[in-house]
Amino acid sequence: MNKKVVSMMLAAALATTVVGCGNKTDTNAGTANNNAGGAKTETGTTAGKQPTIGVAIYKFDDTFMTGVRNAISAAAEGKAKVDIVDSQNSQPTQNDKVDLFITKKVNGLLVNPVDRTAAGVIIDKAKAANIPVVFLNREPLADDMKKWDKVYYVGAKAEQSGTMAGQLVADYFKAHPEADKNKDGKLQYAMLKGEPGHQDAELRTKFAVKAVEDAGIGVEKLAEDTAMWDRVKGQEKMAAFLASQGDKIEAVFANNDDMALGAIEALKAKGYFQGGKYMPVVGVDATAPAVKALEEGTMLGTVLNDAKNQGAASFALANVLASGQTPSKENTGFEITDGKYIWVPYKKITKENMNDAK
Ligand code: BGC
Ligand code: CA
Repeated sequence: MNKKVVSMMLAAALATTVVGCGNKTDTNAGTANNNAGGAKTETGTTAGKQPTIGVAIYKFDDTFMTGVRNAISAAAEGKAKVDIVDSQNSQPTQNDKVDLFITKKVNGLLVNPVDRTAAGVIIDKAKAANIPVVFLNREPLADDMKKWDKVYYVGAKAEQSGTMAGQLVADYFKAHPEADKNKDGKLQYAMLKGEPGHQDAELRTKFAVKAVEDAGIGVEKLAEDTAMWDRVKGQEKMAAFLASQGDKIEAVFANNDDMALGAIEALKAKGYFQGGKYMPVVGVDATAPAVKALEEGTMLGTVLNDAKNQGAASFALANVLASGQTPSKENTGFEITDGKYIWVPYKKITKENMNDAK
């Protein structure tokens, strides 16, 4: 007997049972109807009973967070209703959105803070309303995380991505003696930073440089500025670096791919990536346009910031918490560290393994 026939027979048997129930209680027709109705609504309300999760993203116009946002929606399919809102890079706007979620009595909150130091205020509000809250991508301060046991964080270890970016450049520098343009044995570099205060901007910057030094290469910083995670700003800042430093720069670090891609545009405008003129540029994220740049040979390398698993893990946590359960590896599918954190690993990506990032 095939599966289809079995399930048809099962369905028929179930239908009989329901009808049977209804018929038995004909003295109590009201209840019987309620029962039948109840049986129906139960299946109907499995959808209706799905928890609602209020999701506030720091700003929709961010390439990496768009990937995370899509991953959250995909993970939620058939499991919960996710109401995703744009905080438009304004903490007051985000606070208003969170207040609205609380008024609407959502079952869980998923917050990508605009300013990570504002998490404490959000935690106080959520705790007062007894609505569990999961933060993602912008890590709240440790003291804030301790304020309540229904507070969690999903992210990636910023220092790991910095180290990997630094190693990519160090490996290149060692394998290509011509990369040391002034032959002083040191790496003259330019750094494009993300938003000041963001753990990923501070730690990627620090650990990228440290990894080069740890590889036994001396470093000299020629230029450093923030381009706020933004591609256009990355291009402008790189153009300014080239105007002041000329061809002295031997490598470019960018705290994310959008800024690295902006830098590549500025370099192209100065004749790089043609006629043998090259500059090693590394980013972080492994977004689709970055992988394309790896393929074209303009970007040396990047570090996969796993949007898919960060979205899936943060949704899984919020969903488990929204249904009143305590998160565990079993019910979320992700290892939980120190009772509150899910760390999604980074991975080095170059042209050789770029399919791992697709
Ligand atoms: C990503 C950036 C992004 C930022 C937003 C970082 O982890 O690498 O691309 O702009 O998060 O908070
Ligand atoms: Ca040098």
